[in-house]
Amino acid sequence: MPRINDNFLKLKAGYLFPEIARRVNAFTEANPEAAGKLIRCGIGDVTEPLPESVRKAMHEAVDEQGNRETFRGYGPEQGYGFLREAIAENQFQSVGISADEIFISDGSKCDTGNILEIFGPGNKIAITDPVYPVYVDTNVMAGNTGEADENGAFAGLVYLPCTAENNFVPAIPDEKVDLIYLCYPNNPTGATATREQLVAWVAYARENNAVIFYDAAYEAFIQEDDVPRSIFEIEGAKECAIEFRSFSKNGGFTGVRCAYTVIPKALKGTAEDGTEVSLHQLWSRRHSTKFNGASYPVQRGAAAVFSDQGKKEVAALIEHYMGNAKLLREVCQKIGLSVFGGVNAPYVWVNCPEGVDSWGMFDRMLEEANVVITPGAGFGAAGEGYFRISAFNSRANVEEVCRRIEENLG
Ligand SMILES: *Cc1c(COP(=O)(O)O)cnc(C)c1O
Repeated sequence: MPRINDNFLKLKAGYLFPEIARRVNAFTEANPEAAGKLIRCGIGDVTEPLPESVRKAMHEAVDEQGNRETFRGYGPEQGYGFLREAIAENQFQSVGISADEIFISDGSKCDTGNILEIFGPGNKIAITDPVYPVYVDTNVMAGNTGEADENGAFAGLVYLPCTAENNFVPAIPDEKVDLIYLCYPNNPTGATATREQLVAWVAYARENNAVIFYDAAYEAFIQEDDVPRSIFEIEGAKECAIEFRSFSKNGGFTGVRCAYTVIPKALKGTAEDGTEVSLHQLWSRRHSTKFNGASYPVQRGAAAVFSDQGKKEVAALIEHYMGNAKLLREVCQKIGLSVFGGVNAPYVWVNCPEGVDSWGMFDRMLEEANVVITPGAGFGAAGEGYFRISAFNSRANVEEVCRRIEENLG
């Protein structure tokens, strides 16, 4: 028998969502009359249909594929020029990122995991706590960690606690790290980082020759003018950061799949012998070898997000979800809870009532309001004492959730 990658054995057996499913099943079996009333505000998936402009562009692209004259086979591995140029123009013009620094893919989940392939062993890796679990698990798989302790914290990782005290933006570490994962607007806390905070992180990264992985999947949800939309708004970031963006949450592409990674040409790493090497070149090589490009109709659909109609449709989707977030924030405040997030992100992060922990709150919401939320502790030790409500839902469901929270938990 062949030898397996033993690192996979270190993974915690996908604890959060299976445990949620187990508790929901146990509850609905014991209370069959409540089963039909259950409203899910747990998983971070969009609910509203794909914009018309996107569907139209995809239909047209499929028809092109049915015609000898317009048929396209393999496309460029890094993505079609029409999409890379539309992204550069619409998202990064003011910060001077060019189309050839943008790599199209089929998802940010894959990109944030795959990016580790171009980095060698021995890097010190910092991740926030609570965190999007993909960052942790992909490092475990890559062999960048030791074993997990009884709290699920992996040896070898540097955890950066994000709490109400630091407004859910981690303090600059007092040790040297090589790779840092930051996600703003944040999943799960809904927090944003200020310009000053990002300036401090970029300064730290430059001083320590570190690279920041900046996950901006929720950029489109930013409502406040002074919140940075890209790490590249910060001077010097092109020498120390990679940014990940996705069409999943703004365009509703979670089922369609399209995302992109920005690697500035100025960004470098070091080889074993100390030579500086372009990370852009390494990622380009990796992409050409292991990826044959995102599907043509999907890239046409993604480009339609930047059409006049597409922009209006995306704005309406964002307005819908952020309207939900506002209602959810208000009802939690009304029943006396401390509420974070939900202003520039589709997640509302709520402090559990005195004496109730994350899972205790999960059970109360399930049993008393028949609403499924996500316990904060599932995203990391620092998430204990909080729960996350997702604003991805229909308005009718959110209004019903608010009624039930007020009635049963108020
Ligand atoms: C949803 C989400 C993404 C997007 O992932 P895709 O694979 O592009 O769907 C990336 N990062 C975070 C933190 C997310 O919540």
